[in-house]
Amino acid sequence: MIPMVDLQRQYKILKTDIDAAITEVLNDCRFILGPNVSELEKDIAAYHKVPFAIGVANGTDALLLALKACGIKEGDEVITTPFTFIATAEVISQLNAIPVFVDIVPETFNIDPEELKKKITRKTKAVIPVHLFGHPAKMDPIVNLCQKYNIKIIEDCAQAFGAEYNGKKVGTIGDCGCFSFFPSKNLACYGDGGMVITKDKDIAEQIRLLRNHGSAIKYYHNAIGYNSRLDEIQAAIVRVKLRKIDEFNESRRTNANLYRSCIKRDDVILPTESTECRHVYHQFTIRSKKRNNMMDSLKRNDISSAIYYPLPLHKQEVFAGQRTISGELPVSEECAAEVLSLPMFPELRKDEIQHISDVINNAS
Ligand SMILES: *Cc1c(COP(=O)(O)O)cnc(C)c1O
Repeated sequence: MIPMVDLQRQYKILKTDIDAAITEVLNDCRFILGPNVSELEKDIAAYHKVPFAIGVANGTDALLLALKACGIKEGDEVITTPFTFIATAEVISQLNAIPVFVDIVPETFNIDPEELKKKITRKTKAVIPVHLFGHPAKMDPIVNLCQKYNIKIIEDCAQAFGAEYNGKKVGTIGDCGCFSFFPSKNLACYGDGGMVITKDKDIAEQIRLLRNHGSAIKYYHNAIGYNSRLDEIQAAIVRVKLRKIDEFNESRRTNANLYRSCIKRDDVILPTESTECRHVYHQFTIRSKKRNNMMDSLKRNDISSAIYYPLPLHKQEVFAGQRTISGELPVSEECAAEVLSLPMFPELRKDEIQHISDVINNAS
């Protein structure tokens, strides 16, 4: 059986360090906003060469608190992609703002800046580009548009820790970068966790308040906030893994190159890497009109595969024709019908990639 992600292989490699880090937290007994959270915040800020990083409870809250700290409120329009995980748009609705869905470019599955331009109105207050599957969205035209119209950019980096666009790490290009440490992400913990990075001191202070009940001094409250703190045990785990993240991402890139050389079918579109980008392959996602056949063959051979995402957000029951603004989004719908993600993680072996590729090559 080859799973999409085998977390046990990585745990076996890191076991000594992870177990020691967890034991240290248990001995220390400082479980909420202790030294591991503040050290991880320092390390992640340094990794991105930005002044501020704020640990939060999960990636969804990272987006929510970033939007709120950027002043997004009821009735504001926030532009994003329909080809993403629900969390990206859910947070917009949670603030009673309006998700505006814009179609994607098929090559990278990311938001199309040309389409984005057409959807900007006087009510547009923020854009959430998603660096889907680990490939950065086309940021330069997005930054130009947003500067022109004074629109905030909140990058959804949940799948793209360490990815680069024109030599810049994702999350450092817009006003905020939002990360998730969900167990299957490139940089992950063993539960829920998240982080926001920013260069803006006021936004950083706001998020720090919001994550802890609107409080900077214990039992004094300046804002209606949330209970959304990153916990010490999870922070300690992420600190161990952060030391290895570049190595892990490099292994994913090597695996992707091997898939590329092994899959040989004219009716399969392989993932590409734009010249200005460093892809970190959270997923290795192919496209084919035969993807259902391929999925069946893989299953018969005990190999997992997955469809991310089977239904674009503008077609989801919660949004279809309500609470959102969305025209025709044909590229998203076409991609949803043709994508197939194959097993991808740093410890995936060469022989496994060859085997998976053979099954794809021989599927009907
Ligand atoms: C995982 C993910 C999130 C949400 O992160 P959680 O930590 O699960 O809340 C948001 N956006 C995208 C694109 C994701 O993949």
